[in-house]
Amino acid sequence: AERYSVVIVGGGAGGLSVAARLRRAKPELTIAVIDPSATHAYQPGWTLVGAGVMPLASTLKQQGGLIPHGVTWIRERVRSIHPEDMTVALDNGAVIEYRRLVVCPGIQLNWDAIDGLKETLGRNGVTSNYDRDGAAYTWECVRNLNGGTAIFTQPPMPIKCAGAPQKAVYLSCDYWRREGVLHRIKAQFCLAGDKLFGINYYVPSLQKVVDYYGIELRFKENLIAIDGEKKEATFQIIGTDQVIVRPFDMIHVVPPQSAPDFVRQSVLANEAGWLDVDSATLRHNKFETVFGLGDVLGTSNAKTAAAVREQAPVLVKNLISSLAGEPLEASYDGYGACPLTVSYGKVVLAEFLYGGKVVSSLRYDQRKPSRIAWNFKAKIFPKLYWYGMLRGIDPKVSRKQVNTES
Ligand code: FAD
Repeated sequence: AERYSVVIVGGGAGGLSVAARLRRAKPELTIAVIDPSATHAYQPGWTLVGAGVMPLASTLKQQGGLIPHGVTWIRERVRSIHPEDMTVALDNGAVIEYRRLVVCPGIQLNWDAIDGLKETLGRNGVTSNYDRDGAAYTWECVRNLNGGTAIFTQPPMPIKCAGAPQKAVYLSCDYWRREGVLHRIKAQFCLAGDKLFGINYYVPSLQKVVDYYGIELRFKENLIAIDGEKKEATFQIIGTDQVIVRPFDMIHVVPPQSAPDFVRQSVLANEAGWLDVDSATLRHNKFETVFGLGDVLGTSNAKTAAAVREQAPVLVKNLISSLAGEPLEASYDGYGACPLTVSYGKVVLAEFLYGGKVVSSLRYDQRKPSRIAWNFKAKIFPKLYWYGMLRGIDPKVSRKQVNTES
């Protein structure tokens, strides 16, 4: 079998950040990234694609051009991981050996969990920014709607970028407002959960935005089926077996999400199916040669690229210590961020650590919709991703803790 010092499962935001940093820190290590996908997506850009702010093409690059020099790209799908033997099995039957493993295959989008969705996604006004072509179709749907009912859904947590479902609502409503048709459109935001955002500190600002556009909020409603031809969506009221059928002219769907099946069904998973790592060191709780980062983790941080940016240097430092037989000293504080696009040109930039502790990088009251934060979202973050994170050279940011009592 082929053997590498470090094998990385998944070449997304997490996998490439770690590969680039490891390569810089320890050029003597042999490193392989396993990922079947030929294109790499900057997924946070899809919110802006859905609003016609960013072309889809600018969120995509050839994976081959992003793999750091000296790192081997194995263009295959991982079928299973065998931490007792320190091997990974690929779809093509090959077995790869490692000294250290980094698990970062992201999150799985369970489109099948909603009856009828797959058949109609991308047609009949049924769309999703969580899908690459869907993001472009969202913009088509939004542009073409002049009246009627627009439904936006949010499944049970956890999902990646928990703010993305409502970002789609706000940008669509702002577009309709600017076009002068918002008063003819009934916008409904149906959430499986019972609050607008996980961190209470930001909720009043977001509620103001909801009221401004006249969005109807529906809590504890979980989308379970879609009939594209009839243009009807069926919701289950959480905790009951009661259902509601709602007609729509367009619907933006966010699919339920889970850890990828090959992780969920492995010895690496915790009870809920997520990768079972220590929340500070990012090393696996049972297997000392396994580390992980990104959306696949069972830790309580927000599943965002912003979290990955903080996790990558911690993981790399600890992985190198572990190879040297030294104690793991770096620790991740649970940082995550969510740039909530409340209108064209304005963002509420939510930033927080484990336990919902609020922090601030920009040093103003970040609950206020801000143009500076929009520029970060639309211009700076994409550059930081492609040229900083993926090359392992993004700068460390200092943040101030915010007193949320006052
Ligand atoms: P990914 O980047 O998803 O990469 C996973 C990789 O693993 C993929 O390349 C995949 O091909 C590969 N893979 C999967 N299965 C296998 C397998 N079996 N074998 C080998 N390889 C495999 N984050 C923010 O910080 N800010 C935002 O504003 C933001 N907005 C978002 C909006 C949307 C619409 C979406 C969808 C996401 C958004 N995110 C945002 C979240 C962000 O994109 C993710 O948190 C981030 O990409 C996670 O990185 P990752 O490496 O864990 O997974």
